[in-house]
Amino acid sequence: MALRKLVAGNWKMNGSLAALAELDAIAAAAAAHPGLDVAICPPFPLIQAAVQRQPALAIGAQDCHTGTSGAHTGDVAAALIADVGGRYAIVGHSERRADHGEDDALVRAKAEAAIAAGLVAIVCVGETEAERDAGRAVAVVEGQLDGSVPPAGTGATLVVAYEPVWAIGTGRTPSAGDVGEMHGAIRARLQTLLGGEGAKVRILYGGSVKPANAAELMAVADVDGALVGGASLTAEQFVPIIAGA
Ligand code: PGA
Repeated sequence: MALRKLVAGNWKMNGSLAALAELDAIAAAAAAHPGLDVAICPPFPLIQAAVQRQPALAIGAQDCHTGTSGAHTGDVAAALIADVGGRYAIVGHSERRADHGEDDALVRAKAEAAIAAGLVAIVCVGETEAERDAGRAVAVVEGQLDGSVPPAGTGATLVVAYEPVWAIGTGRTPSAGDVGEMHGAIRARLQTLLGGEGAKVRILYGGSVKPANAAELMAVADVDGALVGGASLTAEQFVPIIAGA
């Protein structure tokens, strides 16, 4: 089944008020491609200004807390992200798993909080290079899915992003064959975990997506879009990726 594609940008710890000017051309490209969903996830302080470009361009966050409010200094509730107009929350990115010790159970709790607040949760999974070299890539990702996918997730509330850790920010990507094998395995696992809804959850590929490789990667079976880091920071790079989807 061909699902509506999602091309999402993850600005990570980059951007500024001035950099939001890039969103004008990105939103125009999104409006020119109504057959797919386009989102940008900037740092928290930029979300409220960025949502002015909705509805053509959806805005999201790169993380959220598991709770709704309270004594959690420095954390941001999914309900507040939704309150200022955000529509997505990336959870479990490998940089957060590594930098902040986030494990599968925490990632699942964050995804559930995002969904409860009305956001679409983008749950990230992916193997390290050592795990791939050891022939364990699929098993590692299946384990992450088992631990971090919310059991009540649906095609409307949940997106999974497959991001091999060794491909993030490195300019290296898996072969189309390896991407196809992994996305097929993720699809099968989602159907085991979620039943019929598992067929409707979009599975994004992420890791060094560029204008030059986006169309080839997104043509692979069960690749329902892309999660783009560095190449989402400028319209010059991100607009061709939208056009190639
Ligand atoms: P990259 O990052 O496109 O810069 O490799 C992708 C990501 O980490 O989401």
